[in-house]
Amino acid sequence: MSDAEEKRSLNFIEEIIEVDNRTGKWGGKVCTRFPPEPNGYLHIGHAKSICLNFGLAETYGGSYNLRFDDTNPVKEEDEYVRSITEDVRWLGYDVDDRILFASDYFGQMYDYAVELIRKGRAFVCDLTAEQTREYRGTLTEPGRNSPYRDRDVEENLDLFARMRDGEFPDGSKTLRAKIDMASPNINLRDPVMYRVLHAHHHRAGDKWCVYPMYDWAHGIEDSIEGITHSVCTLEFENHRPLYDWFIDAINEGRGPGSEWGDKIVHSQQIEFARLRLGYTVMSKRKLLELVQTGHVSGWDDPRMPTISGMRRRGFTPTSIRTFCDRIGVAKFNSTIDIAKLEHTIREDLNKTALRAMAVLDPLKVVIENYPEGEEEMLDAVNNPEDASAGTRQVPFARELYIERADFMEDPPRKFFRLSPGKEVRLRYAYFVTCTDVVKDPATGEIVELRCTYDPATRGGDSPDGRKVKGTLHWVSAKHAIDAELRLYDRLFTIPDPDRVKDGSDYKDHLNPESLVVNARAKLEPGLASGVAGARYQFERVGYFCVDPDSSPEKMVFNRTVGLRDSWAKIEQKGKKA
Ligand code: ATP
Ligand code: MG
Repeated sequence: MSDAEEKRSLNFIEEIIEVDNRTGKWGGKVCTRFPPEPNGYLHIGHAKSICLNFGLAETYGGSYNLRFDDTNPVKEEDEYVRSITEDVRWLGYDVDDRILFASDYFGQMYDYAVELIRKGRAFVCDLTAEQTREYRGTLTEPGRNSPYRDRDVEENLDLFARMRDGEFPDGSKTLRAKIDMASPNINLRDPVMYRVLHAHHHRAGDKWCVYPMYDWAHGIEDSIEGITHSVCTLEFENHRPLYDWFIDAINEGRGPGSEWGDKIVHSQQIEFARLRLGYTVMSKRKLLELVQTGHVSGWDDPRMPTISGMRRRGFTPTSIRTFCDRIGVAKFNSTIDIAKLEHTIREDLNKTALRAMAVLDPLKVVIENYPEGEEEMLDAVNNPEDASAGTRQVPFARELYIERADFMEDPPRKFFRLSPGKEVRLRYAYFVTCTDVVKDPATGEIVELRCTYDPATRGGDSPDGRKVKGTLHWVSAKHAIDAELRLYDRLFTIPDPDRVKDGSDYKDHLNPESLVVNARAKLEPGLASGVAGARYQFERVGYFCVDPDSSPEKMVFNRTVGLRDSWAKIEQKGKKA
């Protein structure tokens, strides 16, 4: 462990591992896995799970697997396998030689199921899905035994083999564990292990006509891979007795010299609270719905909490990993303020993003005493936080653009930007003083400012020690490039759209201003060479990155995050009101 990590106190999973290491439970071994179902793109909650699982293995010198839990053939697709692998790699984890598929274990799972039938621990049931539900009972009432529960072993073996071979229609039979229909834990009421399903599997093809249920499959997957600590989210807490029951049932009678073979690995399931984040949804079903209904442009829409969306938005892998580490690991559900995530990305980009000047709402400025037709190059610092980033040159000429909001004709007392008669600094350039305001005679709108500059202040310093209070960003009008800026904001207007309580639909709370397109921005010319993914701080404006839609003919930038938390102010105001 590094010094920094040692300082933070252990989370409860690390405590379990340390005890295991002391008692020699696993011989000092730590092996974890991240088991996504390939039925959607990964989101920031998954990143939390990845960082936790893979981080534990890294911390304790163990190993980790990326395992696709592809036991449900109906909703799974190769596109998701591809995107998930890409996202895990992008987060910075090297999984190339440990990408595994649960479907590769179908044969082994089947053999274990046969073993449980032989041991009298499983039976073939002919109840329909609806009947099975009826027989299951409720939280307050015990269930009833299936009339098929006492079939003999030979009949069960024969029926299960014929289920596998496709003799029975979908839904007509299941294989169930024989546990206890009166158990207070409903998961233990003879749960279904296999269902008949004639479906094409993205990897196994048409080989199988039975598919395993999650609870049956998961522990076996962990066991086959020798997973020591099987970390999952809290909703599986009530499933843990079943997870353990299945492995214990397989291990029953196993051991040295046993006809069944050696005992199999019994991984320890450990549950933690899933990440919930404000102002967004994290359910795959809802994310898919947003994609399918066109409320977003795709899984990688920069407003989505998906890894691919956040990547396109300009998030760095470091910022996501730092965030996941900082929020910690808990045993109780709570919602994390999205401002924490925004703070983490700002902090990272402040250190790493190159600075540039961009004017979002241009107002023309003519420097009257600057010679017509002349121009010059001025040095600008690329990143004041990182001297090694060096400097660049930006062109200056007689006609410039500044932000419209940086000028006021009748300013209040504390307005330190430009106004008639006032002097300000143009960043890296000169001191300028506003001498006149040109208005559209019809509308009265300000269309141009006339200024003078002081040639002695080149670079933005005055030789006579004269001070100015304001420093503005600017671009040279004739050199500036046009760009489309996509200004993103939170996808929802309410903190908890995943749990709307007033009966409205979560989609009713989409933020209509989550994407505002600015097509009038003027950018310093050096930005024309930005390649997709390049990240910048537009000084005084925010953090931006080049979108993959960008081309030399039409540059497109995404706003990753503003420079400050503008929502905090809004929320504060809301509280006061
Ligand atoms: P579904 O609800 O459809 O099962 P899921 O988000 O649980 O979706 P999985 O593919 O099963 O999707 O998730 C893979 C792993 O990521 C699981 O181990 C799951 O516990 C974990 N995970 C999912 N969502 C979160 C979250 N918000 N925070 C932390 N871990 C999560
Ligand atoms: Mg799941």
